[in-house]
Amino acid sequence: MKACPDCRNLMSESASFCMRCGWSDELQRLRVEVERLKFPRSEVRWFAERMETRLRVNDYTRQWKEKSFDYLLERLFEEAFELEKSGEEPGEAIDDAADVANFAMMIADNTRVALAEKETADER
Ligand SMILES: [Zn+2]
Repeated sequence: MKACPDCRNLMSESASFCMRCGWSDELQRLRVEVERLKFPRSEVRWFAERMETRLRVNDYTRQWKEKSFDYLLERLFEEAFELEKSGEEPGEAIDDAADVANFAMMIADNTRVALAEKETADER
């Protein structure tokens, strides 16, 4: 006997279908495929939420728009140094990694805006 992965119903060892909840090998295969096709993938969605939480905690919201590339890169390196030190406190590593990612996001966002403005200027 084995247990259904979904409802824990006991099924025979050879069964590929659960009589109670409808779980099947094919359903399982499709779920794995759906998860694979999700964009962005679950790890990225989870990390993006961590980044947003850190933005709110640190009150950086939108303030990066006026900051220079050099300033933001310097802050990214500072956060990367904190991440390196967080090795002893795994709980802090997640927040520190999100802080590093946030400064990378800010640099990318400012670059995106600058490129869009340049494109608009070139069209004139
Ligand atoms: Zn089941």
